[in-house]
Amino acid sequence: MPRRNYNDSNVVATFTEDHATTQKSKYMAPRSMRLASHNKTRVAYFHDEGVGNYHYGERHPMKPHRLTLTNHLVLKYGLHQKMEIFQPRKATDNEILEFHAADYVDFLKRVTPDNAEEYENVFQRFNVGDDCPVFSGIYEFCQRYAGATIEASRKLIANGADICINWSGGLHHAKKCEASGFCYVNDIVLGILELLRYFPRVLYIDIDIHHGDGVQEAFYTTDRVMTVSFHKYNGDFFPGTGHIDEIGSSLGKYYSLNVPLRDGIDDDAYVWLFKEVIDQVINTFQPSAIVLQCGADSLGCDRLGCFNLSIEAHGKCVQHVKEFKIPLLVVGGGGYTVRNVARCWTYETSILVDTELSNDLPPNEYIDFFKPDYQLHPHLSGRVENQNDRQYLLKVRERAMEQLRYLDAAPSIQMQEIPPDIQGFLDGEDEMMDEEDDSEAGKDRRRMAAMAETEWYEGDDDNEGEAMDAVWQDAGLS
Ligand SMILES: [Zn+2]
Repeated sequence: MPRRNYNDSNVVATFTEDHATTQKSKYMAPRSMRLASHNKTRVAYFHDEGVGNYHYGERHPMKPHRLTLTNHLVLKYGLHQKMEIFQPRKATDNEILEFHAADYVDFLKRVTPDNAEEYENVFQRFNVGDDCPVFSGIYEFCQRYAGATIEASRKLIANGADICINWSGGLHHAKKCEASGFCYVNDIVLGILELLRYFPRVLYIDIDIHHGDGVQEAFYTTDRVMTVSFHKYNGDFFPGTGHIDEIGSSLGKYYSLNVPLRDGIDDDAYVWLFKEVIDQVINTFQPSAIVLQCGADSLGCDRLGCFNLSIEAHGKCVQHVKEFKIPLLVVGGGGYTVRNVARCWTYETSILVDTELSNDLPPNEYIDFFKPDYQLHPHLSGRVENQNDRQYLLKVRERAMEQLRYLDAAPSIQMQEIPPDIQGFLDGEDEMMDEEDDSEAGKDRRRMAAMAETEWYEGDDDNEGEAMDAVWQDAGLS
């Protein structure tokens, strides 16, 4: 029985034929069984009330206020009634140190606009300055957005939700020892590290216009995380990486997939290529959880971007990933035309909770941001000439398929079934709980940890074994 319907009538006609030739659903999705046991998709939404109150600087394009605006629209549309809302706690130092270097974290904790002069000698080392300025509350800001991603990951581990949303997360450029591209702490890496305690394989998908370099780099040598990034690439555009030849190394060879695009890509081409690649990635890699970075700078009319995507097309990618019914963590990312970021992530929240929204924005105190049309779906395409011709797109697709064929044949995907470190997860929870008061959040985490323990023993079902048998047979190893 096919797992999902591949016949999307919205796919542009010229691409339909090619799509049909590559479609296949070789294996059952073992983890999707976990979601099939209950009918309604359970969505958990993590929003920190304070996260939108930080300021990178007057002329800086990154505006955390977009998060306040997004949350406001989500509430005004009544979407909070369709999901569980959580005020996440801040990430602890130890949680941030799971990925980041101690001296870098120490610097982020100490530096302020007032004492910045004392630290100027290490600005270059930690890549702090113009793009990544020192601003008031910088570390606390990181703790807030990273805390939300970590909490969301734990919610998935505990099977407390099928989909978790944290629009404040998605800061994909941050490196272990340095800031990059407006990102200081890489919440995605921290979230995936958390997911890996329980889920054998995590797929990371990135639709920001910029290459998801920080996440790719962190997992470049492992086969337990596959990173797939769709982005503008010309060797010069920030961050300069994301060439199609960056495929991973060592055990991680073939597990980094890059889809380089040119200026002005439009809805039909983008959605077509996204589905082509993601269908095959999921069939081949068989992820047990997915992290989707929804950077909104890939929309048309973005202050820093140069694609032509509409909010609807951006949302189609989210819809498509959701339909696989694999535990899903959705995070934000870039997005520099603030009003469109808020529209986009509100619309994508509605997709995740299966609710249709009126195109007329509800009355709200920020309505002036949405002048002159006051609509959810403004016209965003056509500003930039589309330089992605059909021949180029087919070539990129073919390269991606070729890499996935290599991955399919690689022994590591079958052989490296590493048992999840569930004991480590529970130990970590115990330590955290020792420090904690008897708050509701603390109780919730204790409940989640207990559920996680149960889930592991119950959830290790036979379907996983059958699926792996199919892989072995396909690879001629059985
Ligand atoms: Zn970006």
